[in-house]
Amino acid sequence: MNINPVLVLAPIFLTTELLSLALCLVLASLRSSGLPGVRHWLLANVAVVVYLPLLGLRGIIPDVISIVLANGVVALSAACYYAGCAHFLGQPSRWKYLLGGAVLQVLAVAYWRYGVDSLPLRVMAISAYGAAVCTATAWLMLRHYTGRRNSVHYRLLTGLSCLFAVAQITRSLYFGMLHPAPTNIMLASGWNVLLLCLGAAIMPALSMAAVLMLHEALQTEAEEAANRDFMTGALSRKHLFATGQQFILQAAATRRPLTLLLIDLDHFKAINDTYGHAAGDEVLRAFADMVGEHLRGRDALGRLGGEEFAVLLPDAGVAAAQLVAERLRLRAQQHRVVSSFGECRYSISIGVAGWQGGENFDQLCQRADQALYQAKNGGRNRVHTSQLAPELQAQSA
Ligand code: GH3
Ligand code: MG
Ligand code: MG
Repeated sequence: MNINPVLVLAPIFLTTELLSLALCLVLASLRSSGLPGVRHWLLANVAVVVYLPLLGLRGIIPDVISIVLANGVVALSAACYYAGCAHFLGQPSRWKYLLGGAVLQVLAVAYWRYGVDSLPLRVMAISAYGAAVCTATAWLMLRHYTGRRNSVHYRLLTGLSCLFAVAQITRSLYFGMLHPAPTNIMLASGWNVLLLCLGAAIMPALSMAAVLMLHEALQTEAEEAANRDFMTGALSRKHLFATGQQFILQAAATRRPLTLLLIDLDHFKAINDTYGHAAGDEVLRAFADMVGEHLRGRDALGRLGGEEFAVLLPDAGVAAAQLVAERLRLRAQQHRVVSSFGECRYSISIGVAGWQGGENFDQLCQRADQALYQAKNGGRNRVHTSQLAPELQAQSA
C-alpha cells in the first residue's frame, strides 16, 4: 500500500505535540505534590515538545540540528522517563548507563549521517536505544512496582513499554531489510506510517500511565492521612471502628474467633506532669511502635483517643489473646523511653473481650471497656478478661 505519509503523519505529530504540551501542564501542576519522579517525567515531555518541530523542519534547517540534535533530545526524553519511573519506585536512576547510551546513540547517528550516510543504520541506532530503555522500564515495573498489579496504569505502563520496545526493533529490522536502502524517513509505505504512528504515541501514552500512577499514590496518601492517627501512626478511631465491623462480618462468615484488647496507659497524667506534654507524646509514639512490632500482619492497632488504644486480633481466641495481652503488658513494663527529656517508664492496663456471635462492635467494645475498668480497679498494670454478657450467656446456655 503506497500512501503519502506526510498527509497522515502531520496531523498525528501535531496531536502528539499538543498532547505533550498538555501533559507538561498536568505534570507541572503535580510538582507541588512532592511525589518522586514528577520532575523527570515533566522533562521527558518537554523534550518531546522540543523534538517534534525539529523533526518537522527536516530539510529546511541543517541536518546537524534536525537529525543529530533532535535524536539526542529524543534519547534524553527516554532517559528522563526511565529515571522518573526509577525515582517513583525508589530505585537508582542509572544515569551513567542512560546518558552513556544516549551519547553513543548521538555519535552513531552523527557518524551514519556525516561519515557514512545511511538512514537504515541511523534508524537502527535510534531504535536500539529506544527499545533498550522501553525494555528496562518494563523490567523495572515488573520487579519493583509495589501497588496493585491489576491497576490500569501498571498494565498500561508495563504492557506499552513492551509493545514500544517490539515496535522499535521491528522498525529497525524493517528499514534494514528494504532494497534499495531508503533515504527518506517519510517512506511512502503503510508499515512505515504505522511504525511512525506507534513511535509518536510512545511518550504521551507512557506519560498518561505515569500520571495515573501519581494519582493513585496521591489517593493512597490521602486515605492514609484520613485513616491514621497523625501522631502515633495507629489507625484513627473512625477507621478502627470500620475495621472492627468488617472483622466481625468476616468472623461470622468464617466462624473464626476475634478478640479485642483495650489498652490504657496507667497514670499518664502523672507522666505529663513530671516530664512535660512533649515527653508524653514521645511515650505514646514509642508505645504504639512497640505494640506494632509485636503484632501479626492482619492485627489492627488503633488509637481511640488520648492514651487509650485498641488492638483487634482476628483468628485469635480469648486464651491466645490473653497471652498476647500479657506479653504486651510485660513489654510495656520493661520499656524505657529515652529522649531529650530523660528516661521514662510506664505501664499499661488491658481489657480483653472475645467476640460472641451476634454481638456488634459497640457491644464488644463495651465489654472490653468494662474489663479494662476492672484491670484499673484491680491496681493497674494488669490484664482483665471480660466474661460473657448475661444475655449472650443465656443464648449460649
Ligand atoms: P489512669 O491510670 O486511670 O488511666 O490515669 P491517667 O492519668 O492515665 O488517666 P487520666 O484520664 O486521668 O489522664 C489522661 C491524661 O492523658 C490526661 C491528658 O492530658 C493526657 N493526654 C491525652 N491525650 C494526650 C496526648 O495526645 N498527648 C499527651 N502528652 N497527653 C495526652
Ligand atoms: Mg490512663
Ligand atoms: Mg484513659
